[in-house]
Amino acid sequence: MDTPSQLIRLRNLEIDNPLAHVDFPKMRAGKVDGAFFALYTPAEMAPDAATRYAMEMISAVYDVADANPDVAAVTFTPEEAAQNRKEGIISLFMGMENGSPIQESLPLLRTFYRLGVSYLTLTHNGDNAIADSAAEGKRWGGLSPFGRQVVAEMNALGMMIDLSHTSDQTFWDCIKLSESPVVATHSCCRALCSHRRNLTDEMLQALGEKNGYVGINYNPGFLTDDFGTKPEEAALLEEADRVEAAFIREPGNAEKVKAWNRMQERLLKEVRRPGVKEVADHIDHAVKWAGIDHVGIGSDYDGILLTPEGLENISKSEALWEELRRRGYTQPQIDQISGGNLMAVYERIITCSK
Ligand SMILES: [Zn+2]
Repeated sequence: MDTPSQLIRLRNLEIDNPLAHVDFPKMRAGKVDGAFFALYTPAEMAPDAATRYAMEMISAVYDVADANPDVAAVTFTPEEAAQNRKEGIISLFMGMENGSPIQESLPLLRTFYRLGVSYLTLTHNGDNAIADSAAEGKRWGGLSPFGRQVVAEMNALGMMIDLSHTSDQTFWDCIKLSESPVVATHSCCRALCSHRRNLTDEMLQALGEKNGYVGINYNPGFLTDDFGTKPEEAALLEEADRVEAAFIREPGNAEKVKAWNRMQERLLKEVRRPGVKEVADHIDHAVKWAGIDHVGIGSDYDGILLTPEGLENISKSEALWEELRRRGYTQPQIDQISGGNLMAVYERIITCSK
């Protein structure tokens, strides 16, 4: 979830914010007792600025946990998460989306890990010093020489190597090179939606065979090919990008906030969206190719412009479990998909590092 970028825009997680995808009341209502907060830095940000921005987001996550010690805790390991669950405390894990903040420095990678960053999404939508991305894919032909060192270091640390957003070649390089299981925290199935950053059946199968994990993304554009294809929808989505960018540049400007909120309401009303059924279709497909032990949820809440119908925010999670039950999944299998599998793969990666 991209909640840290919202935290930095002064979102208060203690209250039920209208239009927010994630906050504590919504997590409680959705019976969600843990989340991975992604520290996302845009590909176009200069390296020093990206490092600074990532550090500030880490600080914001610690601040929110410190201010709510009875509600949530910054969490490093599955073992801690299990303990938190017993105590009724929400586990806040951190991951870093885009490797830019580590620049070309393994000591910086280790510093972020020591602060609690449990996974690194090697790239966002731009090739970087570590690897090629799905959106570009031109710089290295997969992993860079430094990227190979990053993979080895992450294996040694017990950090999760996240291949969502990377190019196909980067994916296969990591499958070959990594000594630990690898993950795709928020990706869908290319057989059902042709987006370049979705995973092919062969990739899903390889993740399963490597004892890894894929989390299905809720982004409508990764779920169906016909999302936003009507001209009026495409135009509105483009306008929405501009309104959101203006709000992000000046999050303290009341007019920009209002315009952004109005736009979010219009999007929900005026753009056709896939729903719970389509999310469940991707889960079914991923289970078929990767296996039931290797599939979960990578909602991308707070990082996506629009959500699927019926899953507008995290409080509505039950709708998806209900659909899976209807399709014949057992409660233990649903527990695996809703978080158990992600905790298990993280545990396996930690074990491999020892
Ligand atoms: Zn992402």
